[in-house]
Amino acid sequence: MQIHSKLPQVGTTIFTIMSGLAKEHNAINLSQGFPDFGCSPKLLELTQKYTSEGFNQYAPMQGALALREQISALIQNCYGAEYHPDTEITITAGATQGIYTSIAAFIHKGDEVIVFEPAYDCYIPAIEVHGGVVKPIALEYPGFTINWTKVKNAMTDKTKMIIINSPHNPSGTTLSEHDLLELEKLVSGTNVMVVSDEVYEHMVFDGKAHQSVARFKGLVSQSIIVSSFGKTIHATGWKIGYVAAPKELMTEFRKVHQFLVFCVNHPFQLALADYLKDETTYKGLHQFYQAKRDYFKGLIATSRFELEPCTGTYFQLLNYKKITDEKDTDFAIRLTKEKGLASIPLSVFYSDQQQQQLLRFCFAKKEDTLEKAAEILCKI
Ligand code: PMP
Ligand code: GLN
Repeated sequence: MQIHSKLPQVGTTIFTIMSGLAKEHNAINLSQGFPDFGCSPKLLELTQKYTSEGFNQYAPMQGALALREQISALIQNCYGAEYHPDTEITITAGATQGIYTSIAAFIHKGDEVIVFEPAYDCYIPAIEVHGGVVKPIALEYPGFTINWTKVKNAMTDKTKMIIINSPHNPSGTTLSEHDLLELEKLVSGTNVMVVSDEVYEHMVFDGKAHQSVARFKGLVSQSIIVSSFGKTIHATGWKIGYVAAPKELMTEFRKVHQFLVFCVNHPFQLALADYLKDETTYKGLHQFYQAKRDYFKGLIATSRFELEPCTGTYFQLLNYKKITDEKDTDFAIRLTKEKGLASIPLSVFYSDQQQQQLLRFCFAKKEDTLEKAAEILCKI
C-alpha cells in the first residue's frame, strides 16, 4: 500500500526523543517540561472523592459546568474579562487539543497562519494537516522580541490566523502590554483571528503581570485563548486544559471538539473545580517558580554557560558559545550520553533549524535535582 503522508517532514517530537534518551542513559532529565515533585495532596484527595462517589461517566461535551464556572471566575479575577461558562469556555484534553481544534475549526486549505519562531512544536503540524500555509517569523535575538513591522509586512489577504504564546516556550520570555496593543492595532477591523497559547499564564516573574489577550477588548472578539492546568497544578499527566473565546468562535470550536474527543476525564474536572475555589492555588505560582529560577541561576553562576533572560515559564535557556561550536542537537545528545544531563536544543523549534548555540533546561525540579544538574554544568 502506498502511504501519502500528510506530514512527510515530521518525525517524533523532541520531547519524546530527549526524555527517552535521558531514561536510556540514566541522565538527569531537564529536557521535557514537567515537574519532578508531586501535586497537592488535597487535589489527590478530591480525585478520590469524585471517583469513589461515582462520577465516572461522560462529562458534558463542553466540560463539567462547575469547572467552567471556576475558569470564568479565574479569568475575571486575573484579567477582568467576562467569559460566559455556558457558551464561551470549553474544557479540552490539554492545551494541545485546544490548539489543534482551533486550527481544525478555522483553517481552510490555503489560509495563511503567522507563527513566531522558535515555535512550540504542535502548531505547525496542525496547520499543515489542515492545508494551511505557515508563515514563520523569527523572534528577534537577543530577547526573543516580536518585530511588529515584520508582522505587518507578512500579513496578506490570505492571512487567517496569528498564533502567539506568552509566556513563551522555549525562550522563557514574555510579551509586554505594548506588544498586545500592537497586535490589537494590526488585527482590528480584519478577519484575522488570534490563537493565544497562555499555558504558563501564572508563571510571570519579577513583579510583572501576565498580558493575557483577555485584558484587551479589541482582541477578545477575534481571539481564542488556550490554557492548560498541567503547569498550574503540577500535573502535566492529567491533560486537562481549556479554551475561552467569544460565543461565535466557540460555537465553531465545539463543532470540531465534539467529534475529536467529545469530552474530557470527568472526575478529575470536578476535583479541579473544587480545588480552584482557593485562588492561592494559582496566584502564588509565580513566586514558587521565580524562587526555582533564581536558585538554579545561583547554582550555575560559575559555569561557562551563559543565562539568557527568563521572565516567565519554567524554562531557562543557556548559551554555550564559550564552550563549543557543535550543533545544539549534537551537543544536547552528547551532554545526555556522556555527562548525564538532558536538555532540549533550540534549533528544533525553527523551520530552518537555525543554530544559536542555545539549550533549554526545565527548572520545575526539586532543589536536589537542580543541584545535581548544576554540578554537571559547572564542570563543563
Ligand atoms: N503550549 C505550550 C507552549 C506548552 O509548553 C505546552 C506543553 N507544556 C502545551 C501547549 C501543551 O499543553 P498540554 O500538555 O496541556 O497539552
Ligand atoms: N510542553 C512540554 C515541553 O515543552 C512538553 C510536552 C510534550 O511532551 N508534548 O517540554
